[in-house]
Amino acid sequence: RIDVAPTIQALTPYEAVSSQAAIEAQPDHRTVFKLDWNESTIEPSPRVTAAIAQYLTHGRGLNWYPRLGSVELLDALAEYTGVSTDSLLVTNGSDDALHLICSTYLDRGDDVVIPVPTYNHFMVFAQSRGANVITVRGENAFDPNLEGIRAQMTRRTRLLYLVSPNNPTGMVFDPEVVAAFCRDFPETIVMLDEAYFEFSQVTGVNLVREFDNLIVTRTFSKAFGLAGLRVGYLAASPALVDGLRRIYNPKSVNSLGQIGAIAALGDLDYLNAFLDEVRESKRLLGEFFEARGVEAYITSANFVVVRVGDIAGTLEALESRGVYVRDRSSYPGLEGCLRMSVGTVEQTERLLERIDDLF
Ligand code: PMP
Repeated sequence: RIDVAPTIQALTPYEAVSSQAAIEAQPDHRTVFKLDWNESTIEPSPRVTAAIAQYLTHGRGLNWYPRLGSVELLDALAEYTGVSTDSLLVTNGSDDALHLICSTYLDRGDDVVIPVPTYNHFMVFAQSRGANVITVRGENAFDPNLEGIRAQMTRRTRLLYLVSPNNPTGMVFDPEVVAAFCRDFPETIVMLDEAYFEFSQVTGVNLVREFDNLIVTRTFSKAFGLAGLRVGYLAASPALVDGLRRIYNPKSVNSLGQIGAIAALGDLDYLNAFLDEVRESKRLLGEFFEARGVEAYITSANFVVVRVGDIAGTLEALESRGVYVRDRSSYPGLEGCLRMSVGTVEQTERLLERIDDLF
């Protein structure tokens, strides 16, 4: 029997529980509400499917490796982000960016500070390097505990992981706050995970020109609706990006992912229309829960958090109505809470009809 490396021994596999197979097995699966993974609830822009179909029908190079370094996608991203191509890297989903950053910049014994509750999977990447994860809680899970974070930062802090808007609380870090962390802790890499940026429109991406210790990560999995294609990216100073290139895999994003992402960036009207829908849906959800006296947090991202108390009973009742949401009750400060993705207004109206008698 061959053991895993000592650093990995304490780690447990990612909670890879997917509702997909159960949903697909239902005859009317298109009417099921899959609201458990913060995905987009609609198909991507028709331009994405058209670009991929065209690539396939022209028989162009599935036998070839993808365009190395995703150069055309980098150009499109430079335009979208306002950051130059030498400050950008395209990755296999933003998870791949998080992993790459940890692999490049963390070593055994480094301290990593993480305000919680947040996207837990990042901790696995940090721990797999043998780093010490120091979590910071606030009095209220929905407010940033900036003083608490500062109190944990030392000269040995190698990395600070901020998610904005945060998953699952929706908390947004003001770019001024991010800049202050970068300025006050120049020895620390400040990571800003902006997987849900499009929904809040608040970003620190411009700060990568000013601070050479900041890395911003983003994804096509959420607002652009390309979760199945696995495309993400990061922005950082050219010096930090050069470091990352030492282990970066230039064929990390497959050909269809590159083509799909370029097409998605070419249809920002489609993106903006979806963002408007989500905004209005959140208003409807807020009204719905308020009218029923249910504690609900309408976040600045594409999900809401609802405190239901009886988690098991509510989950079961929701699933029997074809509504799949995520149990987040084990997260610090989120006792009794569920998280659910937000879709279009039409979807939300149908959803609220379906769960009307439950709340
Ligand atoms: N960061 C955050 C905060 C997330 O919530 C997620 C997905 N749930 C990811 C990163 C990873 O997403 P992807 O790899 O699909 O880009």
